[in-house]
Amino acid sequence: MVNLRPASQQLCRFLKSFGATNSSFFDRRNISRAAVSTMDGDKFSLPSNYSAEPSVWVEYIQLALEHKPLNLGQGFPDYAPPSYVTEALSKVTTGDNVLLNQYTRGFGHPPLVNALGKLYSKLLNRQINPQTEVLVTAGAYEALFSTIVGHTKPGDEIIIIEPFFDCYEAMVRAAHGVPRFIPLKPKKTSGTIMSSDWVLDPDELKGLFNAKTKAIILNTPHNPIGKVFNLEELKLIAELCSKWNVMCIADEVYEWLVYEPFKHIRIASLPGMWERTITIGSAGKTFSVTGWKTGWAYGPAHLMKNLQAVHQNCVYTCCTPVQEAVARGFELEMERFDSPECYFHSISKELVSKRDYMAKFLSDVGMVPTIPEGGYFMIADWTALENKVRLNEETDKLKDYRFTKWMSKNVKLQGIPPSAFYSDPHKPLGESYVRYCFFKKDENLQKAAEILQKWKSSS
Ligand code: PMP
Ligand code: GLN
Repeated sequence: MVNLRPASQQLCRFLKSFGATNSSFFDRRNISRAAVSTMDGDKFSLPSNYSAEPSVWVEYIQLALEHKPLNLGQGFPDYAPPSYVTEALSKVTTGDNVLLNQYTRGFGHPPLVNALGKLYSKLLNRQINPQTEVLVTAGAYEALFSTIVGHTKPGDEIIIIEPFFDCYEAMVRAAHGVPRFIPLKPKKTSGTIMSSDWVLDPDELKGLFNAKTKAIILNTPHNPIGKVFNLEELKLIAELCSKWNVMCIADEVYEWLVYEPFKHIRIASLPGMWERTITIGSAGKTFSVTGWKTGWAYGPAHLMKNLQAVHQNCVYTCCTPVQEAVARGFELEMERFDSPECYFHSISKELVSKRDYMAKFLSDVGMVPTIPEGGYFMIADWTALENKVRLNEETDKLKDYRFTKWMSKNVKLQGIPPSAFYSDPHKPLGESYVRYCFFKKDENLQKAAEILQKWKSSS
């Protein structure tokens, strides 16, 4: 593998990031050097509306594989999901109805769209049509993609609140849209900081809306801050959407992960908002099975038809047995919805002590955490520990990347650099922070606390 030209070198770097070596990958596929160079050059370069840079997930999952830190980076539980959900899946695949292993309806397996229709009809207090107003997708990712691509014309402006789940910007650019960013900023930087202390400047928000604005993406509960937008904040967004005839893409994947006394408010339930909102959810978050990669979008039929148009020619239909198992999970939870056993209520009770424990052990070593009101991530300002980190051993431009990489390799604790969740000009706003996931076994959180304590007290 010598003398590769730039595009093929880029391809090699990308594959290497998955653990593929130059020789293993190219030898296995028997691509000769001649063939590679024929395919080189501008003709086969990546279209400019995509970025070849590995995403933070691609990069940090590889980092974890190489250095084997205690991984509090990517968000997923490291212990078993509720057994009735996993048992349902094994029963579905081996049960009498063998057809549950075959293709199902493209826009969503009937039992699942019916369950979603029933649940959200109750929660939004309106009749939702499961055939035309619900779409099952390959994770919330695909729901976001089908919504953004299905609704963005070249030049349309999409407002994105920073920090943001990183794919939003990439998807808007993929659709030739123009992202317009507005950062949440902390009202205070010392004492106990709650995620509600991170706020938008209302005038800055008003100033972003104009005749070219197509949509605003709202993520509540928020990843990575944990903010649960309150009624007043949602009303302002709703008012601006109505005034400028803008749609709202509500990413509510953490809808059941809200800590008392905070309450999740669905923006689609505000007056005048159903008609202009697509709401997105995830079975991965709802039932703690992130690997199942099943999500959904719901909203009025006139907006949903554009998502269906995108979905029908790229994914067409999602995994049938997983949809059936998720539908059974919903049926059970709907039956016990008003009881404390309902997983949608018990999950945040289970997580609140983990949240508080993490806040304490991060504070104990001198970090300044923001206490999340929702979700399962916590950001913390690490800069008080800067003199303990040899940042110059890492080559990244952004300090939080250097901090998190150095920590993964040397202290064996992995977090995610929050600057990944900002637009280029605003990345410095994330540099002082690290994001950790607290949906982990108590013993692993304890290990994390010990690792940090030991490191802090080392000379
Ligand atoms: N939105 C947010 C805010 C997320 O954190 C995630 C991560 N899971 C997703 C969407 C994507 O969810 P899924 O795994 O269902 O594709
Ligand atoms: N939503 C999860 C997180 O923020 C997973 C992200 C991903 O796998 N791309 O950690």
